[in-house]
Amino acid sequence: MRDSSPKMLLYVEPQLQPTRAPVLDGLTRKMTAAFRAGRPEGRASYGIHVCRCGAESSNRDFILPSGLTTNSLCVHYLAHHRAEVPPSELEKVARLDQGEVRPRKTELSGARWSTGIPRWWEFWR
Ligand SMILES: [Zn+2]
Repeated sequence: MRDSSPKMLLYVEPQLQPTRAPVLDGLTRKMTAAFRAGRPEGRASYGIHVCRCGAESSNRDFILPSGLTTNSLCVHYLAHHRAEVPPSELEKVARLDQGEVRPRKTELSGARWSTGIPRWWEFWR
């Protein structure tokens, strides 16, 4: 954890390889719903977060409706690096209350679909 502040969510730095199959349980789906409801921070951050596995975040952090700040790898960490997400972060995710939604492939790989331009094949997912 780079920052254990109660206002920061899922700034983890995985050390292990990602699991090939994503974990798509209630926590991942809650995170996805809250992330879609979040808004980008006004200014671009100092850079992007790059996961050990090569997944890259966008260059902005996001403010969730609950006030927590997160980055666009939040869904990726939960789905592909669950074993390395600290219990304190899982507890914060469990308290998100924007409902549940299944993440898209782009969200699993660190992109925020609703702010990006969907590529044509995503319309059929
Ligand atoms: Zn990763």
